[in-house]
Amino acid sequence: MRSLPRSLDPLPDETITGFVLRLAHRLGTTPAEILLRTGLAPGGSPGLPTRLPLSFQYHLDDAHLTVFARATLLMPAEVADMLLAPLGQRYGPLNPAFTPRNTPARMIYDNPWVLTRSTRYCPPCLTGNGTLIQDRHGGPWQRLWRLPMIFLCVRHQRLLAHQCPGCGAFAQSPHAGSAIARLSDDALNPWQCRSAEARSAPAEHPAHACGADLTRESAPAGELDSATMAALVQVQRHLAGLLAEGGPESTTSAGAPVPVAHYFADLRATVAMIFRSWPEARPYAGTSFLAAALDAEHASRTAQAQPLLNTAGKKKSSKPYTAPPSDSLVTGAVLQIATRLLRAADPCEARESMAPLVHKLRDADRALSIYLCRAAWISTPMRTAVGDC
Ligand SMILES: [Zn+2]
Ligand SMILES: [Zn+2]
Repeated sequence: MRSLPRSLDPLPDETITGFVLRLAHRLGTTPAEILLRTGLAPGGSPGLPTRLPLSFQYHLDDAHLTVFARATLLMPAEVADMLLAPLGQRYGPLNPAFTPRNTPARMIYDNPWVLTRSTRYCPPCLTGNGTLIQDRHGGPWQRLWRLPMIFLCVRHQRLLAHQCPGCGAFAQSPHAGSAIARLSDDALNPWQCRSAEARSAPAEHPAHACGADLTRESAPAGELDSATMAALVQVQRHLAGLLAEGGPESTTSAGAPVPVAHYFADLRATVAMIFRSWPEARPYAGTSFLAAALDAEHASRTAQAQPLLNTAGKKKSSKPYTAPPSDSLVTGAVLQIATRLLRAADPCEARESMAPLVHKLRDADRALSIYLCRAAWISTPMRTAVGDC
């Protein structure tokens, strides 16, 4: 594999898919050509690749990583920093201790706590920071936007978007199992929507790309009141600070110090407890606006769970309660309560504030309560707080 004639420096916190899009744009070629020339084409089939496996966003084996680094004139460590797997050191839902999986690549399967089939994004961040290189090829598609616990851009003080303003598709959603849609399209900028245009085109003509400019998304409808925005910014600042490279090693969860990854595992379980036992945690909502957003979300989750209650076979009726919300506002609302519940001064206080949720959950969904309290799912202090369920 020969090196490319030119490459790019990765931008801070850039994903590998974002890097490939910018590089293709810089070299005036297609993402498929970049994948072929950097060794990311799935082996075996001749010619240009038609897909980039979803797992390549998360993890590359040594062979792929070395070849990609050499071809793009980067250090292997720089390439590793574009993958999602290293985030698991701080983020429990991507940490093998709290999300046990057989192989690294399996971590992203059936794991709603990492976004590999879409991403959130901040339009102003995607526009770039005004440097020449970002003016030309856009700002980074950020790795942290792939973590559902990131819902707001602290820098621009705005909730993250997750849908294309033109066609409504989830941003960067895959096509035919490829992490980058329209691999052989060289007409799109990295910040344009790559989803297929609404199906008006006859089947024999492949639909055009939507192509909407994702940096132009107008402000979300309905401004947030300032108290709500302040509450959400505070929560996001706290969580982003813990996830940042070089951030603190440990933090408090359920009234005792734990490594940061354990705390994020506890947040994931607390979110499920909040939704399944709603409205028990309602008094903890920071503003009435946030409480109302969660009322609506709970109603919609209950409606999803209802038809599953009486189905035969493996019980799946708790699933609608355990996934993170797609919407940034609702995510912020539930995390505001979850962080508040876990912020107890000591284990005793943690136990007290969790008790109403624990009791209601145990009565409503015994299987889920056992599932959430496994040692391989939450920290030791949280297990103490929720009792031996
Ligand atoms: Zn931003
Ligand atoms: Zn679109």
